[in-house]
Amino acid sequence: MNKIILKEGREKSLLRRHPWIFSGAIKRVEGSPADGDTVQIYSTQGAFLAHAAYNAHSQIAARAWSWHAEQSINADFFRTKITHALTLRKDLKLAQHSTGLRLIHGESDGLPGLVVDQYGDVLVIQIGSAGAERWRDTCADILQEMCNPVCIYERSDSDSRALEGLPERNNVLYGNLPESLTIVEHSLHFAVDVAHGQKTGFYLDQRDNRELIGTLAQDKDVLNCFCYSGGFSLYALRGGAKSVLSIDSSNEALQLAQRNVERNGLDASRAEWQCDDVFQALRKLRDQNRKFDLIILDPPKFAPTAAFAEKAARGYKDINLLGFKLLRPGGMLATYSCSSGINDDLFQKIIAGAALDAGVTAHIIRKLHAAPDHPILLEFPEGAYLKGLVLRVAG
Ligand code: SAH
Repeated sequence: MNKIILKEGREKSLLRRHPWIFSGAIKRVEGSPADGDTVQIYSTQGAFLAHAAYNAHSQIAARAWSWHAEQSINADFFRTKITHALTLRKDLKLAQHSTGLRLIHGESDGLPGLVVDQYGDVLVIQIGSAGAERWRDTCADILQEMCNPVCIYERSDSDSRALEGLPERNNVLYGNLPESLTIVEHSLHFAVDVAHGQKTGFYLDQRDNRELIGTLAQDKDVLNCFCYSGGFSLYALRGGAKSVLSIDSSNEALQLAQRNVERNGLDASRAEWQCDDVFQALRKLRDQNRKFDLIILDPPKFAPTAAFAEKAARGYKDINLLGFKLLRPGGMLATYSCSSGINDDLFQKIIAGAALDAGVTAHIIRKLHAAPDHPILLEFPEGAYLKGLVLRVAG
């Protein structure tokens, strides 16, 4: 049997049911587990702690599947976990708001490394760990049976795959991918490109935060930075914004965004699109003395882990400081971070520092997080990666 014995005292996080076992916590590996194999984790004293998936190539050398010694890690185990995840989304009636939903959110749904997003009748699987890779086909079979999609697409090409020693994969697993795919989110239609788009094709986590922006946009001059396929911009246009300037460094994203505006019959004359680096663009806008009433800053992940926090903090401070400076008195800033390495407290401190340096007084109007199909497991605080603040500067 393949076993991992932990160093003295290193069982603490597992006892709190945190699913990661770092390589530095391991005293000894017994047997010769291959990557993705199920191993049993024991304390130095010989107490059973967890069944986990092994990966010799990762700093996270094992990820726990189960805390119960009697549990077998087999197809039934995955069937139960997937059923729980689907039931949570069903109970919350999330499908009423969107045909695009995250069905399985990795560690937070007890399935480390497995992400499954639904876009209408297409499912997209993203695998980020050797354990999930081992059980990929089993999980795909179960999803096929439970959800009956026309296609299951595998979009396993995130940067984290390299850290896990896994090759990139971007192809159909089952069925045929429809030529075009559209989701309806809070009654807005968005095209989703699951093969070439970012993430699995769409940023589902910002769904409800986008809707909120729609309620704040009436008669406002809006600036949407890092706009991707136009999410926040479309809600702002529908919400009656006077003008919306959207910036992204990806031309493909901007083209998608403009098609999305047309698709929804929104007034394109109120929308302006700019392909640019936001750090540069904000400086140009400042130099042109442009002003806005509502600014959205939704940058990509600056700090994938805590090790990048300091550099990331400088990036967040920079764009937020410039954002504050571009606001008219009484204007609002909706600012987000999707970095696991930056927690809520630190994010708020960075924003406070930016406001101070910009010379503005601001109140937090809302504290935001990811939509409920990205639930946060209490034992896995890393799941609270997305945080947002809506601030109003004094008038
Ligand atoms: N708000 C979007 C998601 C934003 S994702 C939504 O609701 O769907 C982050 C976006 O930032 C991506 O589209 C990426 O192309 C863009 N991006 C990354 N770095 C950038 C930079 N330096 N300047 C401008 N855009 C950037």
